Amino acid sequence: MKLKEQKISKTIKKTILLNPGPSTTTKTVKASLLQEDICHREGSFAAITRKVADDLVKIVHGKKGEYVATLFAGSGSICIDVAVGSLIPDGKKIMIVNNGFYNDRAMQAAEYYRIPVVNCAFDILTLPDLDVVEKTLAANKDDVAAVYMAHQETGTGLCNPIREVGAIAHKYGKIFISDTTSTLGIIPIDVYKDNIDFCMASSQKGINAFTGCSFLIGKVSEIEKTKDYKPRSYYCNLWRQYSYFKEHGEMNFTPPVQIIYSMQQALKEHFAEGEKAKYKRFMDITKIIREEAAKMGLEELLDPKITTGLVIAIKYPEDKKFDFKKVHDYLFKEGITIYPGKIGNLPTFRLCNLGANTPADVKAAMKELKAALKACGCKVPIVKAPGCKCGK
Ligand SMILES: *Cc1c(COP(=O)(O)O)cnc(C)c1O
Repeated sequence: MKLKEQKISKTIKKTILLNPGPSTTTKTVKASLLQEDICHREGSFAAITRKVADDLVKIVHGKKGEYVATLFAGSGSICIDVAVGSLIPDGKKIMIVNNGFYNDRAMQAAEYYRIPVVNCAFDILTLPDLDVVEKTLAANKDDVAAVYMAHQETGTGLCNPIREVGAIAHKYGKIFISDTTSTLGIIPIDVYKDNIDFCMASSQKGINAFTGCSFLIGKVSEIEKTKDYKPRSYYCNLWRQYSYFKEHGEMNFTPPVQIIYSMQQALKEHFAEGEKAKYKRFMDITKIIREEAAKMGLEELLDPKITTGLVIAIKYPEDKKFDFKKVHDYLFKEGITIYPGKIGNLPTFRLCNLGANTPADVKAAMKELKAALKACGCKVPIVKAPGCKCGK
C-alpha cells in the first residue's frame, strides 16, 4: 500500500471537491482501487462484501440481525427507486414530506411506479411544520403505508427533523424511510433513537469512497413483510436483492468490485477516526467555510441554525462583475470544485463539506475563492449594489 500511495502523491493531482458529491477521497482509498483482477464469485471477495454490508449497519448503530444493508450497483438515486418501489404494498400510499429537490425525486419515483402519494409539501426554505405532518398523516392513516423524508435537502443544506417525523410515523404504525444520502457517515445517525426503519446512502458521499455502490439499510422484519408484495421492478427490487444476499452471501448481479474495495478501505478509515472525531472535523471545516465566506461579504441562503452545515448555499453576490462560471473555472484550474445551485428564482452556489478534506485544505480553498472573486472583478469584501440583476 505504501508504494502505491507514494506513486499517487507523485502522479495524481490533489483536488478539493466542494461539490455535493462525489466527495474527495484519501490517498489510501485511491490506492485501494488497484488490486489484482478477481471474479466477484470467489469466496474471498464475497467475504469483503459481507463485511462492508455489516460495517454499514454499524455506522447507523443497527444491531446485526435487526437491521441489514442491501447493496446495489448504482448512484444514490437507485436507493430512492428501490425504497419507493419495494416498500409500498399494492393499493397503499406513500406520504412524502416534501421540501426540496431530493424529496421531489421520491415523488417522481412514485409517479413512475404509479404509487399514489400523499404530498405533504412545504416551502423549500423552511423546516416542515410537525403539526401539519401529523395532521396530514392522521387524515390519511388508513391509506398510507410509509412516511418518507430526506434528512438533508442537499440543494439548500436544510436539516430535516428525522427523529420527530419518524416518531410521528411510528405513532400511527407506519414505517419511516429517510434519504440520508448526504449525511450518513458524517452526521451521527442512530436508527433506534432516530426512529428510522429504512435509510440509504451511497459510496461517494459521507463514506468518502468512490462512486458506484449504494445501499439501503433497513429493518429485517419490515423487509420480510415485502416478500409477497407485487414486484414493480426486476432490477431495482429490495426483496430480490436482500433474499439473494441472505441465501448466497453475495449480490445477485455483478457487484462494482473495485468500488467495494474502496468502501472497505474508507470504512476502515471511518471507524479508525471515530464517529465523534469525524463529525468534529467536518464541523471545524464548516466553521472555516462560514467564517471565510462572511469575511468576503458572501451571504448564506438559509439561517445556519436550520442547516446541517454540510452544504452551505451562498447567494450570488450583488456585484455586477460576479460571474459564477468565471469563478468556477478559476477554481477548477486550481484543483478546487464548487457547484451551482439554482433554487427557485434565487441564484445560489454551493460550498459543500462532504469529503475527506482537512481544515487546512479548505482554508486554502477559501483563499482561492477570494482570489477568484477578485480575478472576476468583484470587490472583496463584496460591496452590494442592491437590486442589481447580478449573477450569470
Ligand atoms: C446525492 C444525493 C442523492 C443521490 O444522487 P445521485 O446523483 O443519484 O448519486 C440522493 N439523495 C440525496 C439527499 C443526495 O444528496
